[in-house]
Amino acid sequence: MADARQLLGKPVARALTESVREHSDDFAQKNGRCPGLVVFTVDDPAAKSYLRSLKRTASDVKIVLTEQALHHATSTRTILSLIDTLNADPKTDGILIQTPLPAGIDRDAVALATDPLKDVDGITPTQAGLLFRGNKNAIPPSTARAVIEILNFYSYGLRGLEVVVLGRSNIVGKPVGMLALARHATVTWCHSRTQGLNSICKRAEILIAATGRARMVNQSFVRPGATVIDVGINVDDDGKIVGDVDAGSIMTIAAAYTPVPGGVGPVTSACLYANLMDLVKTKTRA
Ligand code: NDP
Repeated sequence: MADARQLLGKPVARALTESVREHSDDFAQKNGRCPGLVVFTVDDPAAKSYLRSLKRTASDVKIVLTEQALHHATSTRTILSLIDTLNADPKTDGILIQTPLPAGIDRDAVALATDPLKDVDGITPTQAGLLFRGNKNAIPPSTARAVIEILNFYSYGLRGLEVVVLGRSNIVGKPVGMLALARHATVTWCHSRTQGLNSICKRAEILIAATGRARMVNQSFVRPGATVIDVGINVDDDGKIVGDVDAGSIMTIAAAYTPVPGGVGPVTSACLYANLMDLVKTKTRA
């Protein structure tokens, strides 16, 4: 079998960014200002890297990004009060709260306090509920959306396909499975207590790996001809960024896969801005 095709993220991100820029221009013409996103930043290497990527794209898509640093001593009360202010601020169209939040912060209270119409990363119970109900206007977490955008871009329909998601977090595993279900896939979620993991994964026509376990998915997980989407971002013992998938091992058995780096990662920040523009449109409709 020939080596699997690489599904690169950059062309997907470019197409999304182009569309975001058009909507952002349109918004600026109608409102006399650019859309505004406030990011609550945290002191974490992965969060900082994501923030750098968001900043790089912000000027390109004409979105005003404002940082609000969360220090280790920030209290839940302080965050809730900041969120209240931003909820009421007409120039703040989107709010992103980076994780991991400082220790002791009540994550549920933060999610509940955020205005769902400013929730760019699908953390509020309202947006999660809309996604659960299969509502087309739901704002999903941007990483989950990135997976679907990649499949769309490379013309992989999901209808009737067997999709297995490795991981059940609220930010990746659960929502990506819900998005696939809404597209009529037959979805199975696996997690750390799943029995017979390999054989379940081997059923997948599309396998989505989001475990945070470096290179755990090898050819024993992959059905011949499957498409493998690697969401993982891990640092291996040599300090190298690697995915949850051992690309070398699956290369000759899968038909296609997303590399790490260069796959889902670059699409995620574009999806965050796409989510912001969807929120702005929703508000205009309301
Ligand atoms: P979490 O740690 O929140 O969730 C990991 C999930 O994987 C859990 O559901 C866990 O099961 C499951 N899991 C862990 N080990 C195993 C195992 N051995 N077998 C089966 N299932 C297992 O991680 P996230 O969902 O936040 O992130 C997942 C990966 O995606 C990480 O590598 C992260 O860095 C990356 N990521 C990438 C982003 C991007 O933009 N590309 C953005 C966000 C995350 P259980 O529930 O039972 O504990």
